[in-house]
Amino acid sequence: MSTPFDLPQRPRLGISACLLGDPVRYNGGHKESYLCSRSLAQHFDFVPLCPEVAIGLGIPREAIRLVGDPAAPRAVGNRHQRDHTEALAEFGEIMAAQLADISGYIFMQKSPSCGLERVKVYQANGHPVDGGGRGIYANAFCALHPDLPVEEDGRLNDPVLRENFLTRVYAHAQWQAMRRAGLSHKAVIDFHSRYKYQLMANDPVQYKALGRLLGSIGEHPVDVIGPRYFSALMIALKKCATRGTHSNVLQHLCGYLKRHLSREEKAELQRLIEQYRSGIVPLVVPMTLLKHHFNGHPDRYIAQQAYLQPHPEELSLRNAL
Ligand code: SF4
Repeated sequence: MSTPFDLPQRPRLGISACLLGDPVRYNGGHKESYLCSRSLAQHFDFVPLCPEVAIGLGIPREAIRLVGDPAAPRAVGNRHQRDHTEALAEFGEIMAAQLADISGYIFMQKSPSCGLERVKVYQANGHPVDGGGRGIYANAFCALHPDLPVEEDGRLNDPVLRENFLTRVYAHAQWQAMRRAGLSHKAVIDFHSRYKYQLMANDPVQYKALGRLLGSIGEHPVDVIGPRYFSALMIALKKCATRGTHSNVLQHLCGYLKRHLSREEKAELQRLIEQYRSGIVPLVVPMTLLKHHFNGHPDRYIAQQAYLQPHPEELSLRNAL
């Protein structure tokens, strides 16, 4: 199994247990996601959690819903109105402290406990408010892990969002591995250097801002500038790359080959990049040709770029971009 940048171990991901097929829902059912249970499970060590079972609600149980203020909703039982808000929030805080080593979390959508966004929040008139809110457990957990890549299962069906999430997961895992090995000014600069073209694809403006931030890195203790840099990096990587920004990065990469390729080879590369830009072929097509040329004409700087392989090739994430 390939691990980009030789990660010492497979990344660990938190996940709503029902998404792996565990029969933990209020009605004794599950919501198995084959993407998670079959495809992603080959690359990640999942930590399945069901907060409602963990706080002792049992299976089957009375269904819960969110009510009140969407910014601070309460989680109450549908029939008996029992309030589970404190218990779910407290469990979220406990798990956030225990799971300090995970690199991401996949939450079950629409759940009053696990949902990340647009969860229905009911008003006194019995109708849900526009926009909805966030599940109680997910909210408490994420508040203590602001840099952690998190996503809902439904959104992972979108190839762009899926690729973006998993790119962030591997970046997070890389950073954690680096921190365990010992954070230093040089390590932070090297990390930024490896993510140069990935950042350029995701957020060209932030790429420049992060470069400026590290320009004065020597003036700050590493335990201050390191986390500051990483928080900004994770925000930048959350922005999805487009065909335009990918094409721009591909052109930059071509520049490293210009002295090595024939006129015909350059023309072929340009043709594929243009076909990618206009939506005729997926990203993997020009990337494959570029990698082929870099194999023949290795470049040490390009070889260490996360952009060339930000996640395992077996996930085929760029076939759908
Ligand atoms: Fe349990 Fe969360 Fe799944 Fe509901 S959505 S069954 S609380 S894991």
